[in-house]
Amino acid sequence: MTIRHTPLRIGLTGGIGSGKSTVSQMLQDRGAAVMDADAISLSLTAPHGAAMATIARTFGAAFVNADGALNREHMRAHVFSQPKAKKTLEAIIHPLVAQETERQAQAALHAGYRTLVFDIPLLVEAGTRWRTQVDRILVIDCLVETQIQRVMARSGLSAEAVQKIIAAQSTRPNKLAAADWVIFNDGIPIETLREAVAQLPI
Ligand code: ADP
Repeated sequence: MTIRHTPLRIGLTGGIGSGKSTVSQMLQDRGAAVMDADAISLSLTAPHGAAMATIARTFGAAFVNADGALNREHMRAHVFSQPKAKKTLEAIIHPLVAQETERQAQAALHAGYRTLVFDIPLLVEAGTRWRTQVDRILVIDCLVETQIQRVMARSGLSAEAVQKIIAAQSTRPNKLAAADWVIFNDGIPIETLREAVAQLPI
């Protein structure tokens, strides 16, 4: 890795099954610090997570399980039937994700890391919210058929269920248009993927 004094912030994204998590691990192996937006978001609504008090106050106690975690099923049904509730929930969660992500980034900088990877599955969908926070956007790309095969193999979901998830995400052209760097992770073995990650100018 290049010896660098100025930190480099990379936004890592890609559709479900693209290989984003695999690349995230490879970047970590190259010495980058990774901030995982999904994991942070989940931790906020885990038992007594940082978002739970506001969620209980805003939506009511029925949305909180006995262990202090979010009642995900109840919330999913609620936001599905009321689009406004989705916005309200996001207005609680998003600033806390941003705050915790930045806290982790600062801790990584203090610890001496100079390459910071922000693993953001919905980076492109989020508009300018994340784009303004990163210097480079790395998109992991593959064919939709490959996404479906990989996620079916990993999760046991049906092809239809995976297609539905993909349809709710931004399209490949949209992601590619936002990219500074693209790794086409299709029809290549993991070791070739690792070589592509090793070639990144980080
Ligand atoms: P994402 O985080 O984008 O959903 P993952 O990194 O979890 O995707 O990859 C999805 C699945 O596909 C995982 O089981 C992973 O091991 C596998 N995978 C990713 N890239 C390749 C590849 N080039 N060759 C074979 N399997 C791969």
